[in-house]
Amino acid sequence: MKHVVVIGGGVVGLTSAWALAERGHEVTLIERGREVALGASHANGGQLSYRYVSPLADEGVPLKALRWLLDPDGPLRFKPEASWQQWSWMLAFLRACRGPVNRRMTERLLALGAFSQSAFGRLNDATLLSDIALRAPGKLVVYRKAEEFARVAGRLRTQPGAQERALNHDECVALEPALGDSDTQMAGGIFTPGEAVADCKQFCLRLAEALKAHPNFRGIVTAEVQGFVQLGANIAAVKTGAGQIGADQFVLAAGLQSRSLAAPLGIKLPLYPLKGYSLTAPITAEHRPPEVSVTDFEKKILYARIGDQLRVAAMVDLVGEDESIDPSRIASLQRAVRATFPKAADYDRAVAWAGLRPATPSGAPIVGATPVSNLWLNVGHGALGFTFSFATADIVAELISGRTSPVALDGLQLQAA
Ligand SMILES: Cc1cc2nc3c(=O)[nH]c(=O)nc-3n(C[C@H](O)[C@H](O)[C@H](O)COP(=O)(O)OP(=O)(O)OC[C@H]3O[C@@H](n4cnc5c(N)ncnc54)[C@H](O)[C@@H]3O)c2cc1C
Repeated sequence: MKHVVVIGGGVVGLTSAWALAERGHEVTLIERGREVALGASHANGGQLSYRYVSPLADEGVPLKALRWLLDPDGPLRFKPEASWQQWSWMLAFLRACRGPVNRRMTERLLALGAFSQSAFGRLNDATLLSDIALRAPGKLVVYRKAEEFARVAGRLRTQPGAQERALNHDECVALEPALGDSDTQMAGGIFTPGEAVADCKQFCLRLAEALKAHPNFRGIVTAEVQGFVQLGANIAAVKTGAGQIGADQFVLAAGLQSRSLAAPLGIKLPLYPLKGYSLTAPITAEHRPPEVSVTDFEKKILYARIGDQLRVAAMVDLVGEDESIDPSRIASLQRAVRATFPKAADYDRAVAWAGLRPATPSGAPIVGATPVSNLWLNVGHGALGFTFSFATADIVAELISGRTSPVALDGLQLQAA
């Protein structure tokens, strides 16, 4: 049994702490916030999207991005910075925008997603998580443009045995009647049964409670990690405002901030914040919310009913580490949701939130060993951190336990600089 310090109390750090404690390790979690899940895990889209995992980097995306940038209501914003991090990330992203690269990465992420789904099942059984508004209504990705829909539906036909189903407009409305209220006739949609949705923040709070009751859990230290104390090739302790905390092994799971924590150790993490927004609007008896999770493909907006609230998540803004809520982006999101699902929720009372997705150029998280022998990474989950966290937590915990990864790590590890 080892003493492991996990840095970061978002969904990735919490699931890592749990997976380690379950394997018999003593675990201390360090979180700088007054409670867990105040970072990207706070009010995200809530989708457990195990099969809809294709990374943003794809053929044709650079051209689409130029069009999106010209549209003030478009899903993308870019503010050029005099920052090496922004430009090197963008260059690596552009290099990944190739069909074969996207297909290879999608395959790996599908394997990771399938493993995550089974890992979540085990976690759910083990900890009796409740009150996280978990449902598995399936996911419907709707397309406004006929040619885009024809392209993906055609690709589906070449995949025998695929779970996904291509639906025309009427079939989409039959499956999800709330789409009938939309101002736009959708060309069609791809439905994936079994995809789930839950409240990520509530899940984090529940897991933190379950951890506190776990016999192998030493507790949550509320402190900011400022750096590491190195002893030869190893880390001996982390430096925090509350003093040094020593351990045998360390897991870096501090979301975007992992980048600056790893840098003094000579570890360059290719992370950049992709800022997104969400609205959380109450649903009352007079509303007609979508029951399945819906992704509006062209507008890049996700809709999920989470309990008695509608969660809408959207936008990818490359504007640096700026978590402020831009009123023009919220106004634009409000216009889009009112047009697409006008009767779904009380948008006048919607609560707006902005979060920074800790993203790698490839769209894949970085998991596993580092050049420092007792430092492990669980970072870079980008747009799918809730979905992948159960898998990557198990992977890190297995590796620290001296076993092999349950999922092939090809493409998911730290690349040599
Ligand atoms: C708008 C939006 C919608 C999204 N929708 C979905 C979705 O539908 N499905 C999905 O799967 N994913 C979604 N995501 C992505 C998902 O939210 C993230 O990938 C995930 O939350 C990342 O988790 P994390 O634990 O790595 O980071 P975080 O949640 O940011 O946690 C990192 C933690 O580390 C702490 N920390 C940082 N530095 C230090 C330090 N020095 N010392 C101590 N503690 C520190 C922070 O305070 C924070 O609590 C969405 C993200 C956004 C922004």
